[in-house]
Amino acid sequence: MTYYVTTTIPYVNASPHLGFALELVQADVLARHRRQRGDAVRFLSGTDDNSLKNVLAAAAEGVSTQELVDRNAGAFEALRGPLGLSFDDFIRTSRDPRHRPGVERLWRACAESGDLYRKHYEGLYCVGCEQFYTPAELAGGRCPEHGTEPQRVAEENWFFRLSRYQDRLLDVIHSGRLRIEPAARRNEVLAFVAAGLEDFSISRSHTRARGWGIPVPGDEGQVIYVWWDALGNYVTSLDYGTGGAAYDRWWVRGDRRVHLVGKGVLRFHAVYWPAMLLSAGAPLPTDVLVHDYLTAEGQKISKSSGAVVDPVALVDRFGVDAVRWWLLREVPRVGDADFTVARLTARYERDLANDLGNLVHRVVSMVHRYRGGTPRRYQMNEGDPLVAAWRAAPGRVDAALADFDFRLATAAVWQVVEEANRYVEEARPWQLARSDAAALDQALGVLLAACQAVGELLAPFLPEAAARVTAQCAPVDGRLPEPRPLFPRVDEPAVPPGG
Ligand SMILES: [Zn+2]
Repeated sequence: MTYYVTTTIPYVNASPHLGFALELVQADVLARHRRQRGDAVRFLSGTDDNSLKNVLAAAAEGVSTQELVDRNAGAFEALRGPLGLSFDDFIRTSRDPRHRPGVERLWRACAESGDLYRKHYEGLYCVGCEQFYTPAELAGGRCPEHGTEPQRVAEENWFFRLSRYQDRLLDVIHSGRLRIEPAARRNEVLAFVAAGLEDFSISRSHTRARGWGIPVPGDEGQVIYVWWDALGNYVTSLDYGTGGAAYDRWWVRGDRRVHLVGKGVLRFHAVYWPAMLLSAGAPLPTDVLVHDYLTAEGQKISKSSGAVVDPVALVDRFGVDAVRWWLLREVPRVGDADFTVARLTARYERDLANDLGNLVHRVVSMVHRYRGGTPRRYQMNEGDPLVAAWRAAPGRVDAALADFDFRLATAAVWQVVEEANRYVEEARPWQLARSDAAALDQALGVLLAACQAVGELLAPFLPEAAARVTAQCAPVDGRLPEPRPLFPRVDEPAVPPGG
């Protein structure tokens, strides 16, 4: 099976924040999980360089747009190391030679379907969102995302006949050919489509775009709307415009084509993008998986709100395992989640340092103390609740991740950890060591096998921690390595930074 998974490509008008790290880590887990199950996986991330917002941010800083874009896009790509990401490809839409030919091919394909036309247009435009709003969509006359007043814009632009695709979009969503999760988001899209679709503007004058972006093929006075340009990255990175084999393998004949998106860009991914693909005669994504937003100390995290949590600084201070674990273990499938440093450290201490770290340390220490570090033979008793828990866990993880539920997936792994800790308390190997050698070998054998199973189960979620657990529990020349603490304490400083 092939599995192609993408993140959205963010504007690079500022540095990355924790909200985007959530999406990257979720996509990374899906990619690592499918690889572990033996699928062929391609995981794409990238940056949306051609946004007008990048132009405005560069002008405000007094640097060239390309300079700002290069610097900030570099910061996004560099998240790979600190967050432990495994993307196979990273596209930068202003620089990647695959991108422009692909966007142009998509444009021409839709033009050949008769879906592109020019018309005069006036509307209310939010530069922050790079989209037009109807008065009814505004909140008190202001953009619902940014709280800013939109500009009144009048110009002649190219339009896409979205209105033509209402029935086909309803059909692909109802039939499940295009799966949108969670169900509430699917219903939101269905209601939006059913209410009637209006054609949307897909170009800007060269002047308003400040000369930045991809010119409309055959109409140099116009620049392609940045959303059209940006959405194209999911196929341009597969050589859609450059004639490589990747497009056929991962998109046309691919089994799963999965987009992870935040709720704020749902309409672009579940309505505009599928309609563009239908028009171009291309296959649709199979899954659009929607996450909600993070808040920090009760405030929305966004570049415009000022509440920015730097994921790299968090990793520097608390380690990648702590950050990934909080994002995966505490952020619910539906609803916003509030980030605080106290929650992150509490979760790390309880789950990783205490539950898992102590378990592995105890088990390995006992093998050293009572058996000189050499695990003995034991019987695998399938009726044992601990054995049953780790046998059932992979299926539970598969089901949870198929449902895009990272909290449920990590809970399935944690059931094994909890069951193993119960087993230690009930079997009491330290007493068996004085009374029953065979029972001691049996208990230590089952516990060590459980720790090895946890190492494997944890690999897609916490690749670094999983590798340490696995190494700690793997005999070298018949003997386990000396026990070492797997999860160092992350003490909070007495005075918070800046406090
Ligand atoms: Zn806006």
